[in-house]
Amino acid sequence: MIYEIRKYGDPVLKQVAKEVELNEINDDFRTFLNDMVETMYKKDGIGLAAPQIGVSKRVFVCDNGEGVVRKVINPIITAITDETQEFEEGCLSVPGIYKKVVRPKKINVKYINENGESVNEDLDEFLAVVMQHENDHLDGILFVEKVSPIAKRMIAKKLKMLKKENLK
Ligand SMILES: [Zn+2]
Repeated sequence: MIYEIRKYGDPVLKQVAKEVELNEINDDFRTFLNDMVETMYKKDGIGLAAPQIGVSKRVFVCDNGEGVVRKVINPIITAITDETQEFEEGCLSVPGIYKKVVRPKKINVKYINENGESVNEDLDEFLAVVMQHENDHLDGILFVEKVSPIAKRMIAKKLKMLKKENLK
C-alpha cells in the first residue's frame, strides 16, 4: 500500500511523535513498516518517517544508498564526534527544495528493529545524514530549519507557498 505524503505546512510534521510500545510490534506493524518502505521507494525517497504519512510515532525507514533497508523504531541518536559534514538534503515533505545542512559526521544510534530486537550501530557519512534527517522528523523538525541563514532567505518564499497549499 502506498501512503500519501504529508507536505510542509501540515501540522502533523511539527508534532513530537510518540514512542512505540514493544507490544505494538506485531505482524500488522511489520506490514505497516513494509508499506512505508514501498511508499519511500515509490516516491523516490531514501528515507521516510511515520509523521510524513500522518502517523505520529517514533518510526522511520531508510535506505543506505545501496538498497539495504533499515526499519528503525524508537531511535536514540548521539553524536560521537565533534567533526561535522555538509550534505545537500531534500525531503519528500518539502518538494523542490534542496539545500546543504551541516550535521555531526559520526553518530551512534540505538533503536528497536521490526522484530523487537535492540540494535546499536555506529554510522558515518551518508547513512549518518539520512538517520539524523529522519530522526529530526520524529521531533517535528524539518531540514529547512537547519540550513544557513542565507539559504533560509532564499527558500522563504517557496516555503510560504508550500505552507499555503498544505495547511489544512
Ligand atoms: Zn524528510
